[in-house]
Amino acid sequence: MPLIIRNLSKQYPNGVRALDDVSLDIPKGLYGLLGPNGAGKSTLMRILATLQTADSGSVQFNGLELSGNEQELKKKLGYLPQEFGLYPHLSAEDFLLHFIRLSGFTSKKQALEMADKLFELTNLTEVRQSKLKTFSGGMKQRFGIALALIGDPKLIILDEPVSGLDPAERTSFLNLLNQIGRQSTVLLSTHIVDDVAGNCPQMAIIHHGQIAYEGETQKAIEQLKGKLWTGPEESQAIEISHTVISKKLSEGQSHLRVQSHERPEGFDPVEPTLEDAYFFWLSEVATNKTEG
Ligand code: ADP
Repeated sequence: MPLIIRNLSKQYPNGVRALDDVSLDIPKGLYGLLGPNGAGKSTLMRILATLQTADSGSVQFNGLELSGNEQELKKKLGYLPQEFGLYPHLSAEDFLLHFIRLSGFTSKKQALEMADKLFELTNLTEVRQSKLKTFSGGMKQRFGIALALIGDPKLIILDEPVSGLDPAERTSFLNLLNQIGRQSTVLLSTHIVDDVAGNCPQMAIIHHGQIAYEGETQKAIEQLKGKLWTGPEESQAIEISHTVISKKLSEGQSHLRVQSHERPEGFDPVEPTLEDAYFFWLSEVATNKTEG
């Protein structure tokens, strides 16, 4: 397994426990880290990107221990933070070349070759001379990926990169990530279930700093098969006796979606989706917290 995370915990000085004993085995390919706002995703990403340290636990990438090898690991990873600044008046090419040189490419020829390759991959060749202020949201994100890929990193960490993109930009961006995932480990954090569904064969769900689910995306859905039911919202007693995982509006009426081994009276079976699985695993963490 390329990326091995063991028992990672992090508490901020204000007392917030952002990561609580997180362990994950992350394979090659596009891997989804799914969780609501405040779940601990950015904290985990920053620790993996060597920008923050954990209180306890360990991280290993391709056999290299993070602790004590931060500089070496940094060379192997690319990180795209949630927000990154671009100089609006510079051209994409000047900006990218500047960072390519900073990363240690001293030969002009090599730096240009790297820029050519990155613009090609991110489909920005035609606009490489344009000023960054003229870029759309999708172009900026693809340019962010070009920056993160300087030096051919084998671990790419992307913190909520898809938020703010329109549907067409999102599709082209996710296709690009899939392409990159063929050669590297790409960790994609998001609070949007659809970013993971159909794109990430493996994923983890994180909530309150704890891993609620880890494994194949398809399996998370399959575990609810035959145990998911839908019925009208009036049946409030159900909320006491069963796990209500969500309320959905359909045809102007609100319906409950309930997880149960037995079919509750007045309820019909439904095919689970990744969204159902997501809400189910979140509710499991919430229950454990209350009971614990
Ligand atoms: P996510 O990326 O999933 O939204 P974060 O890792 O940003 O989650 O935050 C996890 C928790 O830690 C949240 O409750 C957040 O308010 C808190 N937190 C994040 N950064 C800091 C910080 N620098 N100081 C104090 N609390 C923080």
